[in-house]
Amino acid sequence: MATDLLPSDLSVAIGEKALQMGFSACGFALVQDVPDEVYNHWQEWIATGKHATMGYMEQHAPLRRNPQGLLPGARTVISVALNYYPAEDMPAGNPRFARYAYGRDYHDVMRCMLGELVQYIQSLQPCECRCCCDTAPLFERYWAMQAGVGFTGRNSQLIIPGKGSYFFLGEILTTLNLPPSQPIESQCGECRKCIDACPVRAISDNRMIDARRCISCQTIENRGDIPTEVAKRMGRRVYGCDTCQEVCPHNRHAVPTSIAALAPRPELSTLTYSRLTTLTQADFSRIFAGSAVKRAKYQGLMRNVEALDPTLFE
Ligand code: SF4
Ligand code: SF4
Repeated sequence: MATDLLPSDLSVAIGEKALQMGFSACGFALVQDVPDEVYNHWQEWIATGKHATMGYMEQHAPLRRNPQGLLPGARTVISVALNYYPAEDMPAGNPRFARYAYGRDYHDVMRCMLGELVQYIQSLQPCECRCCCDTAPLFERYWAMQAGVGFTGRNSQLIIPGKGSYFFLGEILTTLNLPPSQPIESQCGECRKCIDACPVRAISDNRMIDARRCISCQTIENRGDIPTEVAKRMGRRVYGCDTCQEVCPHNRHAVPTSIAALAPRPELSTLTYSRLTTLTQADFSRIFAGSAVKRAKYQGLMRNVEALDPTLFE
């Protein structure tokens, strides 16, 4: 039943509910134009071709500038973070999958959880809401910073102080006018560990990732051949890359997720190099049903397997 709560009471209730549900952080940002600095950074990334083959990243400039177009009358962005850090890694000798892809596709998990949070919000006060999880042209990390959830590191990941960066982000745009949280400033300091550790030198000093070189982008988003220079540096990485997160000091205190759906699917640990080389389309469909790995499709994963150096797995 709808009640007549003050905006500050509403934001406390929503934040508490989000944490109860299993989100690790929740904050609120006022809907307005993103600053020129953020918008121009994106434009430069596009203009210099660093988005590689991700043509969709070029689109919807007006919505990126101001998310009001995604939900007319939107007043607040509610930003949430969901921990996906696994309790254990895949066997060290196997080809490596990025940790975010161990469990169920985060889009499904996040959509369900955001839907539940929206139901709760609307039970408190009638309002319009729109859920987003990597599904709308929003500068997600900017809004998470504005909402006090975390800060964007030099590796372009959203980092929650004291918790690290192994988090999915989700947003609820709402017509509710909620008091904004205190934004968080960068806490990278003089650190450059991610820049130095990136095997393909894809991270520039101005916090821009060159997706043409990034192993994560090339093994997941690219539909063509993997550039030779990138393939040479894949090491054991067959799907995605976690290196710029693994070296980040903020991830020293990462704790395993409590979300059961994000736990590693058991068959992942059986995927040795030799098993992957004989994987059939039917195997792929069964093993990765409901997984984010399906984004690369069978052909993409097998292309990645072929790019690996077999001598690394002898
Ligand atoms: S994901 Fe890997 S390749 Fe891409 S920027 Fe990070 S360390 Fe470099
Ligand atoms: S490794 Fe260092 S520079 Fe890179 S994101 Fe983490 S704290 Fe920032």
